Amino acid sequence: MTPEEFRHAGHALVEWIADYRERLARGEYPVQATVKPGEIIAQLPSAAPAAPEAFEAILADLNRIVMPGMTHWQHPRFFGYFPASGSLASVLGDMASTALSSIGLNWQASPALTEVEQVMTDWLRDLMGLPNTFSGVLQDTASAASFVALVSARERANGYAAARGGLQSGTATLMVYTSQQSHSSIEKAALLAGFGREQVRAIPGDAEFRMDVSALRAAMAEDRAAGRQPAAVVATSGTTAVTAFDPIAEIAALTAPEGVWLHVDAAMGGSAMVLPEYRHLWAGIEAADSIVMNPHKWLCVAFDCSLYLVRDPEHLVRVMSTNPSYLQTAVDREVRNYRDWGIPLGRRFRALKIWFTLRDLGTEAIRARLRDHIQWAQDLAATVSADPEWRVVAPVTLQTVCIRHEPAGLTGEALDAHTRTWAQRLNDSGMAYVTPAVIGGRWTVRVSIGAESTRAEHITELWSLLRAAVVSTV
Ligand code: PLP
Repeated sequence: MTPEEFRHAGHALVEWIADYRERLARGEYPVQATVKPGEIIAQLPSAAPAAPEAFEAILADLNRIVMPGMTHWQHPRFFGYFPASGSLASVLGDMASTALSSIGLNWQASPALTEVEQVMTDWLRDLMGLPNTFSGVLQDTASAASFVALVSARERANGYAAARGGLQSGTATLMVYTSQQSHSSIEKAALLAGFGREQVRAIPGDAEFRMDVSALRAAMAEDRAAGRQPAAVVATSGTTAVTAFDPIAEIAALTAPEGVWLHVDAAMGGSAMVLPEYRHLWAGIEAADSIVMNPHKWLCVAFDCSLYLVRDPEHLVRVMSTNPSYLQTAVDREVRNYRDWGIPLGRRFRALKIWFTLRDLGTEAIRARLRDHIQWAQDLAATVSADPEWRVVAPVTLQTVCIRHEPAGLTGEALDAHTRTWAQRLNDSGMAYVTPAVIGGRWTVRVSIGAESTRAEHITELWSLLRAAVVSTV
């Protein structure tokens, strides 16, 4: 494709994107994909074309083959999982980054790539009210950042054993603690970092699903008494199921004096910290060794974009750096080489989409949007609670409302079957999308508000759709 051909095709694609978002905002697509497993594969040729094809043909197949297989996370009635509020400004930032197609192996490989990232990570840190004792790096996902955090914790606990015999060097058994409500990425990170399933302790929660600090204290003491070494505690700010916030200050009072690594998974809840009135939820955060939050969830930046913040970048670099001769440059002492702040050597220019988003929207519009989502969650919870057949089953801390339809006489497994049936019916209708999840041992439905196109009327519509979905299952 020549630049001139690109001009033509690119305009067509930008029109396509704008039309798509306009139609989505009008609710014209079914929220959930309408295809059966294998249906997309069956429509694709089994081998790549030998001869060039016209861009018009590619675009036509995007509509014909791909679109029916999409579940629309930007749909105003998408209430599943968590928000993925990718603003159009961030789409353009991503486009510019892809167009530049530079790979940030080190500062010299594209100085702007590093320096814009440095400033954007500072902007995000400051927006969340964090002290400048934290330094940031962009990663693809919270899963990757939490893996880096637990490798860093392991290396601090074992005196940098990776530089010697590594996992085989016979240090004390290292333990990781996290709450039963923590995201599956934490257990995965711990296992991949070599801790072993028996060394990961899932601490129970209190009545509001926050980590029970007395149970954590007891578990750490028991391990110490048995000769095991507490290495890391992973607290969550905004748990996946109910958006609970673990008590950071109380947890830090246990970790800091012992030099135990405190990692805070704020993948979801971190966005809310741009609102000063919610920062009490992570009081004590300045004591964390590392924090991850995802601008690609609720901060209007298109996937993928995860911010990893550390208090001691020298430690991070010592753990992550390999520094082969062919990557060394004359300015290494003066600059950040982000390849030493995580796993990948080649790095995308992710910071551009943050820059575009924050400049296009301005921070006050983002704050106003988040406050709307939180208000609508409160409104929905009030409406649901006012109906005697319905229950809100967990505190509504931010924008997630966990609900159950509990008709008289329906309990136990019959109630679970009812919940799963109506959730599936609602999703299959294409009118709205919600996520069923087990909370407190019972199936529940999570309504997560936060798509960019969602407005108050979509929450009102959802309430009608919910009531219609339950009618024919009882
Ligand atoms: N942590 C929490 C609390 C989450 O809710 C999620 C995503 O749902 C993750 C981590 C994983 O995020 P990512 O997809 O960026 O790895």
